[in-house]
Amino acid sequence: MTDETSTGIDVSTLYIVPTPIGNLGDITLRAIEVLKQVDIIAAEDTRHTGKLLSHFGITTRTVALHDHNEQQKMEFLIEKLCSGLSVALVSDAGTPLISDPGYHLVSRCRQQNVKVIPLPGPCAVITALSASGLPSDRFTFEGFLPPKTKGRRDKFAQIADDPRTLIFYESPHRILDALNDMLHELGADRQVVLARELTKTFETIHGAPLGELISWLGEDRNRVRGEMVLLVAGHRPNKDDLPLEARKALRLISKDLPLKKAAAITAELFAVKKNALYKWGLENIDE
Ligand code: SAM
Repeated sequence: MTDETSTGIDVSTLYIVPTPIGNLGDITLRAIEVLKQVDIIAAEDTRHTGKLLSHFGITTRTVALHDHNEQQKMEFLIEKLCSGLSVALVSDAGTPLISDPGYHLVSRCRQQNVKVIPLPGPCAVITALSASGLPSDRFTFEGFLPPKTKGRRDKFAQIADDPRTLIFYESPHRILDALNDMLHELGADRQVVLARELTKTFETIHGAPLGELISWLGEDRNRVRGEMVLLVAGHRPNKDDLPLEARKALRLISKDLPLKKAAAITAELFAVKKNALYKWGLENIDE
């Protein structure tokens, strides 16, 4: 174990400070010290962060830095940093930049040789993955899903063959639609885990094959409430699987030709079995 407990603040430095995703006890000692000692806290929502700061007796000045003013506020913050001040960047919850503002500021600081010091801390994607029971050696975080069915289905079709664990953020209003779109593209057997209200009173981490998970959610409205992370097992190849490109081609060709004919052409193009393609088309393509 290392014993690096220094909390001195460096001048002209941007600190990236994660904050709790629910349970206030998850803030780190170092985060509290940094937030107390920096000259300015750049916060996604100053009122929201103000409550956290007053809970920990922190009186540092805050300025707003959100998606709509990041470009403009960035100039102000860079100027302060270059003049010797220290700044902490926080978002409403969890780690800044992870589906939260801050990318432009950090990128600009690094271009201008302004020192950036990241603090480790709460992050919903990592917290959910650690308890999901899904493989954690390789995973891909996809952020928020597109808001509409077409975008979601395209997204799921693109990543259907990815062998890594797939992780998404999703809102409770859209979760059932999103899962039904996933069912359309990935089938009912794919293992899915829904992690909701992490670190809070109603924390629930439930895993099941997709078809069963949808039924389970339909049994109780409370199961689709709150903040949630959706984790999906990666694709496990099987010798009868049809290549993604062949399935895409069949979808495209069958728009203009009867499915049987489209399956015959696609089978020849990709050297796969015509009957298997035809059967897949019957199950997955709406005519
Ligand atoms: N920066 C944050 C992080 O490090 O996780 C994420 C911010 S993003 C705007 C908010 C989304 O994160 C929520 O819609 C939800 O998908 C997920 N999230 C945040 N807190 C959560 C929690 N306590 N339980 C489950 N998901 C959470």
